[in-house]
Amino acid sequence: MRKLFIPLFSIAVLVSCGTAKNASGTGTSESSASAKGNKAFLSAYKEIRAEDLKKNLYVIASDEMEGRDTGSPGQKRAGEYMVNYYKSLGISYPKALGSYYQKVPADFMKKRGGGNLPDSENILAFIEGSERPEEIVVISGHYDHVGTRNGVVYNGADDDGSGTVAVMEIAKAFQAAKKAGNGPKRSILFLHVTGEEHGLFGSEYYTDHPVFPLANTVVDLNIDMIGRDDPENRGKQYVYVIGSDMLSSQLKVINEAANKMTNNLELNYKYDDPNDTERLYYRSDHYNFAKNNVPVAFFFDGIHEDYHKPTDDVEKIDYNLLAKRAQLVFATAWELANRPQRIMVDKK
Ligand SMILES: [Zn+2]
Repeated sequence: MRKLFIPLFSIAVLVSCGTAKNASGTGTSESSASAKGNKAFLSAYKEIRAEDLKKNLYVIASDEMEGRDTGSPGQKRAGEYMVNYYKSLGISYPKALGSYYQKVPADFMKKRGGGNLPDSENILAFIEGSERPEEIVVISGHYDHVGTRNGVVYNGADDDGSGTVAVMEIAKAFQAAKKAGNGPKRSILFLHVTGEEHGLFGSEYYTDHPVFPLANTVVDLNIDMIGRDDPENRGKQYVYVIGSDMLSSQLKVINEAANKMTNNLELNYKYDDPNDTERLYYRSDHYNFAKNNVPVAFFFDGIHEDYHKPTDDVEKIDYNLLAKRAQLVFATAWELANRPQRIMVDKK
């Protein structure tokens, strides 16, 4: 999750978006709970396990990765671990890309205020859809963090180690379904972006240079911090969901149905308030999809006491809650990838 920065011009954008949102659209009557009782779904869903998330996070957020600053050797080591993980599962990359890596050039980031960051990479894993392979469901999370300062490693276990391992775990579940003959009908892109903390650079690069046309991109489910709780929700089984009714009247409905058939978490929409001063809709990678009219939902645990501190460590993660939130994203993605009609963009 990126630190808050408020340029004055965007206040006007925020207000106008809020007005538009209130002025248009209602819910949808189309059923979205088709996965309930679906054996294929239930067996894939069980592949998302707290202990596996923990195992991967203990690597991704270890001191060896040096806080995963954009373009750093530590970040590249984390990236290699992720690529090897996908290879071990038999999950490949998008053919058009030719590898798991999409280079995000230093120059691109410099022009956007990234200073002298070195070249970095987004990492893309891909499962092709069986019936509508040209339609893409994106599940994203940034794998960079803020690095090392004065010799202290900022491990970023929650931010966004938690999202990184959740994306990896969800990929494993979809791959298990595919191996059992129940692969997704639409394609799924597992998108690990870089440069988030410095300015959402990896997701901006991806949406400026999409591997698949954005017009065919159905949704971005973005996961940035889902392994902890915040002071307002201490001990609760909850997750903040942000932006899910901004562009499509169907996405929020689908996510709620997916939640009911999985862990029934408390879905907190506090940050959908256009007057909220944290402006979270604009502060993680989904925004680069939303600004291109791709519906998004952002899954988030809140701003807690270890946010952007060297104490954001693996010992403080609630792995059971992390698994439940990852299962929710998986269930939502399952429905979005398998329902007969792609969700509509019917709100502005
Ligand atoms: Zn952050």
